[in-house]
Amino acid sequence: MAKVFCIANQKGGVGKTTTAVNLAAGLAMAKQRVLLVDLDPQGNATMGCGVDKRALKSSVYQVLVGMASVQEATVHAEGFDVLPANRELAGAEVEMVEFESREVRLREALADVDGQYDFILIDCPPALSLLTLNALCCAHGVVIPMQCEYYALEGLSDLVNTIKQVCKNLNPNLTIIGLLRVMFDPRMTLAQQVSDQLEKHFGNKVFKTIIPRNVRLAEAPSYGIPGVMFDKTSKGARAYLSFANEMVARVNATAAVAA
Ligand code: ADP
Ligand code: MG
Repeated sequence: MAKVFCIANQKGGVGKTTTAVNLAAGLAMAKQRVLLVDLDPQGNATMGCGVDKRALKSSVYQVLVGMASVQEATVHAEGFDVLPANRELAGAEVEMVEFESREVRLREALADVDGQYDFILIDCPPALSLLTLNALCCAHGVVIPMQCEYYALEGLSDLVNTIKQVCKNLNPNLTIIGLLRVMFDPRMTLAQQVSDQLEKHFGNKVFKTIIPRNVRLAEAPSYGIPGVMFDKTSKGARAYLSFANEMVARVNATAAVAA
């Protein structure tokens, strides 16, 4: 059975897609079978994996509205699979309102491919929308990327409350796997202060790995190659690789406790 994680934060530009793509590639490099689901109509994760979002026969949109299966819409990237997205997905939000059990459309669809992967990762849009709700209903855990800046904690309580609600009403298995500090600049005193504050508040929910601000990670999407594969020796790539390993260890530890 696949372990399903969504990468969520309702703020835009906080590193969700970069984290989703590099975690997918990092896990693939660690010999895990991975499906990356792009659940953002911007299709950045799709493009970042080298898949042309404008040339898709079907995408996650068709899957959500029942016009295609996950297998039909899935494409292969370098080392892992992608269930891609493009602008059409924005329409799904409106169309799904009509459906019964609209929050669990993705969960029901992914059940078909559950046995084929070790990890399914979902890149969420920057909103606590019906799409994000669909992601939260599928997931065993949420990874929350955040920048260590003044407003970092603002909005976090909305996300945490949403996760609690989903846990209570729709998906009792859901937990926050961890907070990931991204785009970290150690020269900024403020970043260090916020980072310390996060550790104090959230303890071991904060991943040990810190992702630095690194230009190679920002350049990689324009080549359609995940940063961890684009320049393996860069600081950013090495950080995301160690994050992938930390994820595997954390997931195994959680599984061992549950058993
Ligand atoms: P989100 O998906 O939350 O909107 P993105 O992952 O798209 O955020 O990141 C926003 C921007 O920041 C992108 O241009 C991305 O390339 C850049 N970026 C993300 N992480 C890093 C990093 N660690 N170092 C440098 N640039 C980064
Ligand atoms: Mg994004």
